[in-house]
Formats: sequence, structure tokens, C-alpha cells
Amino acid sequence: MTTTMQAAAAATDAVRMNSLYIGGQWLTPAGRELIPVLNPATEEVIGSIVDADDSDIAAAFAAARQALPEWSALPVSERTAYLDALADALRDQGQQLAVLATSEIGMPLAESRGVQAALPEAVLRSTAQAARDLDWEYQDESGSTVLREPVGVVLGITPWNFPVHQLVAKLAPALAAGCTIVLKPAELTPLNALFLAALCDQVAIPAGVVNLVTGRGSTTGEKLVQSQAYDLVSFTGSLAVGRHIGAVAGDRVVRATLELGGKSPAVVMADADLEAAVRTTVRNCFTNAGQKCNAPTRLIVPAEQRAAAMQIASAAAAEYRLGDPLQAQTTMGPLASDVQRDKVLRYVDGARERGATVAGGRRADRPTGFFVEPAVITDVAETDPVVQEEIFGPVLVILGHQGEADAIRIANDTPYGLSAELWSADPAQTARLVRGIRAGQVRVNGVRSPHPPVAPFGGYKASGLGRELGAFGLEEYLEVKAVLGTFEGEAG
Ligand code: NAP
Ligand code: MG
Repeated sequence: MTTTMQAAAAATDAVRMNSLYIGGQWLTPAGRELIPVLNPATEEVIGSIVDADDSDIAAAFAAARQALPEWSALPVSERTAYLDALADALRDQGQQLAVLATSEIGMPLAESRGVQAALPEAVLRSTAQAARDLDWEYQDESGSTVLREPVGVVLGITPWNFPVHQLVAKLAPALAAGCTIVLKPAELTPLNALFLAALCDQVAIPAGVVNLVTGRGSTTGEKLVQSQAYDLVSFTGSLAVGRHIGAVAGDRVVRATLELGGKSPAVVMADADLEAAVRTTVRNCFTNAGQKCNAPTRLIVPAEQRAAAMQIASAAAAEYRLGDPLQAQTTMGPLASDVQRDKVLRYVDGARERGATVAGGRRADRPTGFFVEPAVITDVAETDPVVQEEIFGPVLVILGHQGEADAIRIANDTPYGLSAELWSADPAQTARLVRGIRAGQVRVNGVRSPHPPVAPFGGYKASGLGRELGAFGLEEYLEVKAVLGTFEGEAG
């Protein structure tokens, strides 16, 4: 065995397979169907999980409800100390967690170290700081006291693409706010979640504050959502499932925060450095084989530069080295599943059949794994499905614009509004583009992800409701109470 294979085996050995973490206890229900977890690069079974049933779900919510009064009454300094301890555990065991996440999702290990370990560690620390900095209680100009209180029991449902980050982006603000939580990770990537639950146990987060149930979305997920036992549901995933969860929550008038998909534009103006803009867009689009909700998947360049952009982008795409994501030389791993691979190939083949120019985008010639060569597409109508719909794979589409107003029109011309990138050498024009684009984040001239990770993240339009990270992320987990009249509060 190579050392990376040994590391992967050690990481999976550390996971409690077929178990649920409820009320501070590991439960291993007997006699259940075991759902296999595959390594998408090798197609080997690396573990399995159980589908949590009605009684497990009731137990998880009961544990969270029971733990709520004591947890929410703890001083903020004590709650956030647990987040810092969990961050320390992630720092110490982040390499193992990154290897595990790579084994499940196929993300190259170097990317995993950043996104599955260093980023969640930073999110825990920065969320703890946001909670320490928050005005939990203050008097307004009317003499009323304004109190911030936890919403209550949270249901968190997460997808597979950045699995550890997405769990922590819910767990950290929920706990900092004084809420307790029941988490359900994606069926494709549950092992890192079981590892994370073990870290919560290791740092002695009180029993019932964090609960983890596994299972399929259509069974366990649906039962969780239909439960009457939560006060807030925080969902990250597809538009279709998000709409459904939002409707259920709306019917019950419980709060829903939804982080849904994207079809983000990268807008390049005539005075920008085309080579740098295109190469950076390719890199950002193809992170995690394009399975990234804020990937810039529509490169919008001056019409007269479209052919040059196609040339640069195709050359950059051809440089990717597909292979075992645990190997250092690999720059693109497989897609998460055969279903995802086939969906991506259908989109690319469809565009080809409709007369688009396509570089790459074929099923990769490899003995195992769900690999697709990165694709760059142009000569395609603005209404084409590859331009309008989220593909969630390594597919970049290049469109031409006729100047500033047209660039803004095209950038805004999808149902989504999660994020946008723009490239311009003119500050006045940059300001007009920033204000003209309807998206939750706008990145100017290739700026990297902010550190600490506190910039609000979330979508305009069909990309979602609410924000994650930093002070805005924390706010989603808080209620506001106004006390009118004499009140012996701390701010009094
Ligand atoms: P998904 O099918 O919506 O699944 C997300 C989560 O919901 C999974 O845990 C899934 O379980 C569960 N689920 C599915 N059906 C459910 C139901 N009826 N009730 C309750 N839970 C249910 O999305 P995905 O295929 O895992 O992930 C890809 C999508 O997520 C993409 O569209 C992407 O844009 C979006 N995404 C958005 C963001 C963001 O922050 N905006 C981030 C990442 C991904 P199973 O895994 O068992 O199906
Ligand atoms: Mg799904």
C-alpha cells in the first residue's frame, strides 16, 4: 500500500460506520439495510451508513430539545470556547479529515486540505468571534431593551460537494447562537460527517447539542423535514429540494434558510487583461471538478474577444491532470457519482448536438471512476440549457457581450444570483457593474476568498434565502425580542 492509501484506510477506520450520533451516544441500529459509500475515483466501497428511521429521528429531535435550555443559558464565552476547541481538533486532525473527504468526494487532496479542514476551522473561529462581538442586549432610543435569543432546535441538511464546510457553516452559528442541532449529511459523503460528530464528542460538547442522523434524502431527509420538532431548517442543496423544504417550512411558519444553486457569471470588459481573467475563471470554474455552487460557469467577454477567450480557456482546460485525487500531481478528480457524471455528459452532448463548439467534455478514458474531461463551450444561444441551468460539473460556457449594459443584462439573465466575478481596469465602470449585477457576492479582478471567512455568503433570486458566515450568518439563528417597560437586563 502507498502512504496515501494507508492514510485513507486509517481515516475510514476512525469512522463509526452504520451509526448515528444522538444525545451524546453512538447508536448502531441492528437489522438495517446498509447503504454503501463509494470512492468515486476507484468505485470501491469504503464504508456504509444506515437510513435513520422515524424512531431515530424522534430521538434526535428529543435530545436536541432536551439539551436546549441548558445550552442556551450558557454564557457566550463558554459556548464559543467549545467552538474554539472543535477548531483546535480540526487543526490537529484536519489532514485525516481531508483524506477522508477526498476518498468520498474525489476532490484533489490539496483542495480538500483547504476546503474540508482549514476553511471549517476558520469558520468555527470566526463565528465564535462574531458571537463574542454581537450586541446580545442593548437599549434603543425608545428605552426598550432589545434581546437576541436562539431560535431553538435547528435542522441542518447538507449536500456532498464541500461536505465538511457545509456542515460546519450550519453547526458553528447554530451553537454560537445557543441553538441545538440535528444534522443530516448527503448520502454520498456521510463519513466525514461521522468523523466530525466524533470530534464534537471528543471536545465534550454537551450531549444532545449536536446530533447526526444519516440516510437518503428521499426517506430520512423527507421525514426530518416533515417533523414538527424543529424551529428552523437550514438547507444547502438543489433548487428543487430547497423549494420543497421552503414550502413545508412556510406552511408551518418556521424559518428556512436556503443556500441553493448558481450559474455565476465572470464578466470581462475590453480593458481587462484577457489572459489573466480567462485563466482565473477556468481555475475557479473547475475547482472540485466544477461541483461548486458559486463556480463562475458563464464567461462573458467582449464579442470581438470571444475566439481568443475560447483559445485560452481550451488550452487551460487541457492542462488538467485527471487521476487519483490522493496523488499530489492530480489537479482534477472524478465527479461525485455515476449519476452526476451522466448528467454532465448529457448537458455537454446536448449542446454539441445543437451545434455548439465544444472543447473536451468527453467521458475520460480511465479504468475506474466517474471522470469527465473538463469542457469549454461556445457558439451557443443565450437560452440554451448549458447557459441557463446549473450543471454542477467541469463545464465552462463562453458568451460574447456588446459593452457594459449588455454585459450586465447577460450576467443577470438566469434564475440564479449567487455570485459574480468581474474584470475591468476602469474603477467607475467597475462600480457600475458591481451595482448592476444582482448577486450575493461580487469578486473584483480575481480577488481570492476572504480571510477570515466572514463575508456574507448567499443568494439573490433563486439562489436562496438568507446568508451564511460571519455576523449575518449568526443572525439567521437568532430571534429578536423587544422588552417595553422596566426590565432588569444586563444592558439596563
Ligand atoms: P440535493 O439533492 O438538493 O441534496 C441536498 C441534501 O438534501 C442532501 O443531504 C440530500 O440527501 C437531501 N435531500 C434530498 N431530497 C430531500 C428531501 N425530499 N427532503 C429532505 N432532504 C432531502 O442536492 P445535491 O444533489 O446533494 O447537491 C448538489 C446541489 O446543491 C447543486 O444544485 C448545488 O448548486 C447545490 N449547492 C448549493 C450550495 C450553496 O451554498 N448555495 C452549496 C453546495 C451545493 P441525499 O444526499 O441522500 O440525496
Ligand atoms: Mg440528491
